[in-house]
Amino acid sequence: MSKKILIANRGEIALRALRACKELDLKTVAIYSTGDKELKHLRLADETVCVGPASPLESYLNIPSILSAAELTGADAIYPGYGFLAEDADFAERCEASGFIFIGPSSNVIRQMGDKITAKGLAEESNIPIVPGYKGEIPESDEEVKKIAANVGYPMMIKASAGGGGRGMRVVHTESELISSLQLTKQEAKNAFGNDTVYFEKFIQNPRHIEVQIVADGKGNAIHLGTRDCSMQRRHQKIIEEAPALDINQASLEKTLKACLMLCKNIQYSGVGTLEFLYEDGEFYFIEMNTRIQVEHPVSEMITGFDLVKAQLKLALNMKITLDQEEIMFRGHAMECRINAEDPDTFTPSPGIINKMHPPGGFGVRFDAHIYSGYLVPPHYDSLLAKIITTANTRKSCIKRMLSALDEFFVDGISTNHSLHQKLLKDKTFCKNEHNINYLEESFLKK
Ligand code: ADP
Repeated sequence: MSKKILIANRGEIALRALRACKELDLKTVAIYSTGDKELKHLRLADETVCVGPASPLESYLNIPSILSAAELTGADAIYPGYGFLAEDADFAERCEASGFIFIGPSSNVIRQMGDKITAKGLAEESNIPIVPGYKGEIPESDEEVKKIAANVGYPMMIKASAGGGGRGMRVVHTESELISSLQLTKQEAKNAFGNDTVYFEKFIQNPRHIEVQIVADGKGNAIHLGTRDCSMQRRHQKIIEEAPALDINQASLEKTLKACLMLCKNIQYSGVGTLEFLYEDGEFYFIEMNTRIQVEHPVSEMITGFDLVKAQLKLALNMKITLDQEEIMFRGHAMECRINAEDPDTFTPSPGIINKMHPPGGFGVRFDAHIYSGYLVPPHYDSLLAKIITTANTRKSCIKRMLSALDEFFVDGISTNHSLHQKLLKDKTFCKNEHNINYLEESFLKK
């Protein structure tokens, strides 16, 4: 009998997962909130269950409700996607305890990687280059704290070990700000994450954001799908991502890739995952590992032909899969533009009805989206509407293809950041691949 997968997410990633399930002849259960009855994948799933009101806390984050939907429908496994409960170790543990397969690594590994100090320690043990800093206990005495910070060097960052989503971080430029910043960050971390453990890290001033995609089977086999460059960001939110990352020091890259695979073996990682790095002056600095599928996964798929979501399902369900690095062939360049329902100048969210929509298409164009003409974009969730992905032989032709895809793409009724992408793709600094994580906010938007 074919296995049944409950998709514990919404929007484009729920549709992406549903497509992968169909290809593997798996049955699907789609969950939704009362604010989300129009979701495209609900029409394609074998079964649907409403898990609560529109508010995410009462629906997509409501663990008892999701587990009872799984029980009610007799699901075998739960697919978490990204966001919501995807990196919630307690959720993974409760799935395991209730007899459902959590499609991802074990709750134990999620918990270890969710604690940034533990993650840094594990990375270091596998020879992954980390950001220099201090991750020991912070002493009571201000004088001792100042000594430790002086050793790390200014500017530095205070980061919450339990932090995530860009929260729980603060840059400290001089010693005079140190003690008050420390108290503030601890207080914020306690309020937001219920844990005020913090650590110090050197502030890397103008890095690129480079990440490594891995796939591992929990039995010691691990492969990588190379790198992605996600340096075009606003408020730590990625806007354009590409694969592979270009102009990278090959010796550092090879060492880093090898160490990433070593970490996967050492922690018996199972599933797909991403190691995120800051990259400056030819050096990689590990910042965190995401133990889930990422929004930007299609660009790695397009340059390798490897289906990451199918791999997640196969690994979790013990289906046959070969993980052989020699079989991974890298070809060409891929780029993704995230189309958000927001004003292109002020970035304020723009929910509402899409009166009309024309998707882009053609050779080398992929459109991952749940939207359609007549769809009402609800105000309760993140603003991601669509991902346009283009693939070509070179970065230059990839950009050209994206510009053409953007010209074709048309949404009427709500505002999107479509025009921002058109401007960015024609920007000289971007075209020369000379941007870093600060470029969008500190240069481009100020022009
Ligand atoms: P989160 O889990 O909240 O996303 P990360 O540790 O991944 O936190 O950091 C998010 C972003 O913050 C990074 O992509 C980078 O832009 C910035 N950042 C984090 N650590 C540093 C650092 N040591 N120096 C400079 N920027 C940093």
